[in-house]
Amino acid sequence: MDFLTDRAKTLTPSLTLSIDSRAKALLAEGGDICGFGAGEPDFDTPEHIKAAAMAAIEAGFTKYTPSSGIPELRQAIVDKLAAENGIQVETAQVIVSNGAKQSCLNAILATIGEGDEVIIPAPYWLSYPEMVRIAGGTPVPVNTTEESNWKMTPEQFSDAMTPRTKMVIINTPGNPTGSVYSKEELEALVAVAAEEDILILSDEIYEKLVYNDANHVSVASINEEARRLTITVNGFSKAYSMTGWRLGYLAAPTEVAKAIDSLQSHMTSNPCSFVQKGGIAALRGDQQPVADMREELNLRRQYMVKRLQNIPRLRVVEPLGAFYVLANISQFGLSSTNFADKLLSKVGVAVVPGIAFGDDRTVRLSYATGMDVIKKGLDRFEEFCCQL
Ligand code: PMP
Ligand code: GLU
Repeated sequence: MDFLTDRAKTLTPSLTLSIDSRAKALLAEGGDICGFGAGEPDFDTPEHIKAAAMAAIEAGFTKYTPSSGIPELRQAIVDKLAAENGIQVETAQVIVSNGAKQSCLNAILATIGEGDEVIIPAPYWLSYPEMVRIAGGTPVPVNTTEESNWKMTPEQFSDAMTPRTKMVIINTPGNPTGSVYSKEELEALVAVAAEEDILILSDEIYEKLVYNDANHVSVASINEEARRLTITVNGFSKAYSMTGWRLGYLAAPTEVAKAIDSLQSHMTSNPCSFVQKGGIAALRGDQQPVADMREELNLRRQYMVKRLQNIPRLRVVEPLGAFYVLANISQFGLSSTNFADKLLSKVGVAVVPGIAFGDDRTVRLSYATGMDVIKKGLDRFEEFCCQL
């Protein structure tokens, strides 16, 4: 008996999550591993956020809440979007979920169906194409290169468009590329989307992590057309080191938000009650821990980029956001999986093969780990590359 649907059979598990678990397990067994696979900050959740969640438990705030989040948190998100992102929405347009991952999936399930195409600039965060497939749609990757700093140009976007195109996904700052789109670049992409009335899913989860003179610009703030077409996704995992808490949100046009509200009410119901109280503390409380983390990440970024750029045959464009460096390994003559496997078995360094992100020429290194690990891991990485 074949119990599985075709949809379930074609799904692949999240390689980023499994590589990270593998590296953590090897470390726990006492292995000498330098893990550059992490997709999460290595900083602790700020104390005032933990205290707010603990106080909520103590106070018995442990029951179901409205499915799309408690009004106070939705209001805090509305205020944050207005103050920081230039996005004006009503609370009814905000849906809080179990992580930005669920917010992305909610947005896709509510708007994408059989036959719909979704344009995804590659290298992409690996869950986007799978989510589109879960919804019955067709992911359409658009390959970018270092020449455009791994960013999709308006021409590439236009060329990928067909009568079936329903959505484009923009992720700035980007995972795995670390690319940050400028206001002008976003304006040009919005113009292409607006011409054909294409929805824009804008994943801005790394917004707080931008470096040098890069600025984060929210797609929905660009103009009236962008506001009408954009679903903005954000969350607490990266900015507040809250990956395990599972808290994220989206802001969408009213009818889309309403559909997502219904969808979520039948899937997961509300995100954890006391975690939502932690979310309010994160948004309304002291932002200094975010600035401190960004500063530390920036030091590591500069160090890692400099070291990698000095390795012969490796190509690295400087990432201006998130906490990843994407290294082009194509001159070593190995597939990204082969490269990553050998690197782990020979010198104990874990990276994510670019094939997971739709680009076999690259591997991703995360610098969300201590400077001592970065130094040791890069010594080994360099030696490994030089011997290939
Ligand atoms: N979007 C991007 C680009 C990501 O890298 C991640 C992974 N952490 C997420 C969304 C999901 O984040 P979370 O579900 O932890 O909020
Ligand atoms: N998004 C992070 C990463 O790319 C965490 C893992 C995941 O959710 O896929 O590594």
